[in-house]
Amino acid sequence: MASEPAGAVERLAAALTRLPGIGPKSAERITHFLLTGDRDVAAMLAAALKDVIEKVHPCRECFNLTEGAVCRICSDARRDGSTVCVVETPRDLAMLERAATYRGLYHVLGGRLAPLDNFGPEKLTADALLRRVQRGEIREVILATNPTLEGDGTALYVSNLLANTQVRITRLARGLPSGSTLELANAQMLTDALDGRRAF
Ligand SMILES: [Zn+2]
Repeated sequence: MASEPAGAVERLAAALTRLPGIGPKSAERITHFLLTGDRDVAAMLAAALKDVIEKVHPCRECFNLTEGAVCRICSDARRDGSTVCVVETPRDLAMLERAATYRGLYHVLGGRLAPLDNFGPEKLTADALLRRVQRGEIREVILATNPTLEGDGTALYVSNLLANTQVRITRLARGLPSGSTLELANAQMLTDALDGRRAF
């Protein structure tokens, strides 16, 4: 990694370039906006960032992002606790949740297996999923990792991990184009993929 630039302005610009979709030019533009425009915007942004860093953490049950010990989905008594949908990231969870037809719970793995990037099983929350399943209340686990090579490999890994339990394992239907991601699917595609799930 390049050494950190010395000045505060340069450090802000350098930090911005590490955000997705922000190149050096955009970073410079945003930096100047924050410095020369309405200072309230900069203060609001700083406060909001400080808040999420300090207050938001993984749910102790499902690893969704939450400000409490348990997320609002896990603590919602109207949700169906017998079904757990396994996703790669909190963002994937949010996509499925926006499709609004699923009433079960989730489990966020925290990524997908990517051997070439040194992302191995120890970095996933799969062991915690196994412990949840072993408690005996979950009857179905829906593998909703992305339909990519790495997502499929991750689904296979989770499925093998749960093989000695009594839980039914299903996979999202192939309504989503292969190699695509949940992120690119619309609500109807996600609903169809969930409704059409099949035994893994
Ligand atoms: Zn939760």
